[in-house]
Amino acid sequence: MRGFAHRATLEECLTWLDDQISPLTATELAISQAAGRVLAEDIICEINVPGFRRAMMDGYAVVATDTAGATPYNRLSLEIIGHAFPGQEFKSKIEIGQCVRIMTGSPLPAGSDAVLPAEQTEVEGNRIWIQADVSPKKHVANVGEDISEGTCVLRAGRQLRPQDVGILSSIGRANVSVVRKPRVRIVVTGDELLPTGSVPTGCQITDANSPMLDALCCRDGALVHNPGIVPDDPTAIRTALHDEADVILVSGGSSVGQEDHAPVLLAEDGELAIHGIAIRPSSPAGMGRLGQRLVFLLPGNPVSCLCAYDFFAGRAIRVLGGRERAWPYPTIRLPLSRKLVSTIGRVDYARVMIVDNQVEPLAISGASVLSSTTRADGFVVIPANSEGYAPASEVDVFLYDGARALKSETAFRTDDS
Ligand code: AMP
Ligand code: MG
Repeated sequence: MRGFAHRATLEECLTWLDDQISPLTATELAISQAAGRVLAEDIICEINVPGFRRAMMDGYAVVATDTAGATPYNRLSLEIIGHAFPGQEFKSKIEIGQCVRIMTGSPLPAGSDAVLPAEQTEVEGNRIWIQADVSPKKHVANVGEDISEGTCVLRAGRQLRPQDVGILSSIGRANVSVVRKPRVRIVVTGDELLPTGSVPTGCQITDANSPMLDALCCRDGALVHNPGIVPDDPTAIRTALHDEADVILVSGGSSVGQEDHAPVLLAEDGELAIHGIAIRPSSPAGMGRLGQRLVFLLPGNPVSCLCAYDFFAGRAIRVLGGRERAWPYPTIRLPLSRKLVSTIGRVDYARVMIVDNQVEPLAISGASVLSSTTRADGFVVIPANSEGYAPASEVDVFLYDGARALKSETAFRTDDS
């Protein structure tokens, strides 16, 4: 066994990584499928919405000046000449002294310029008595009032909200151009691992990283392919590394030990750009390229795996999918309840709890203690040049909860977008 001769700084890793990543190509999608996806085009509205003057209330379409001076004590009368319905143009024109019964959403009859709400009127035969006046345009949506022709309604890069696909539909779009989802192949290695759903027995442990990485990748907008645990066998790992995908995540065997095959294979078949990082946990992580594929070597220890995913792989997956580079974790700035120590020369990913509006570092710092991340409310990143923080210093906590989550398909086929 040999140690790492050199550990790359976090900045060196991010500089290399940011050079490798840009949004994938666009693909056309029906708008019914587009919510949650990242828009690859600016959407310019080519029509006016609404395209006609539209009643906003049930009542009577009137000539506003006909209603001037109407009050409960000075009722005025108008003749009803017909009924306007949604989706139909009213055929004749309203003259002075006339009105048309109208329903919300109907086009305003020619000659009218306001809607008098039904509750301000009384019907008597073919006439109404009006008890209030209305000003011109009252309860009427003008042409283009929602969206006027030529407006950019949504910009490229936007992650489409449910109301966004509503707008797309209302301006007549059937399809939109979205960024293709990154396809991620998860390669979980380890002869000691039992698949999810197994109770650990003897000296075997149950794989924690597959479901965790699946969920992280889905959160970050990927299509995940994870066909099961791969043995610590160079041939099996090599086959998996060559799977068709945009990103390969290898969990386990990422260091410099005898059973750590992935770094050697990646160096042989592609480029092992970084191996060994000045960050704790997850210092035995690596990354590189294999043709078009980006490959991340994540340590098997679950906390290291989570940390290396979040610092490197997640960032790449988000950018490839057209999303924000930044973490999806909200932050909060609070004072420390006690000191938080760190070693100069490496970045620390310290799990913390928030108790009584103070940040409490968790005593356990071992990379294998995954429960430290489930007990934690979030984490603090201590820069490499810092020895840590004194009690009562304010620190930024990245909160695990509140991360923007999105339901996503969990599998991809090669013809999927
Ligand atoms: P490795 O990175 O393969 O050297 O593994 C480091 C430690 O993490 C060992 O104790 C492994 O048993 C453990 N480990 C590796 N992969 C997983 C996994 N998928 N789930 C839980 N623990 C793991
Ligand atoms: Mg292993």
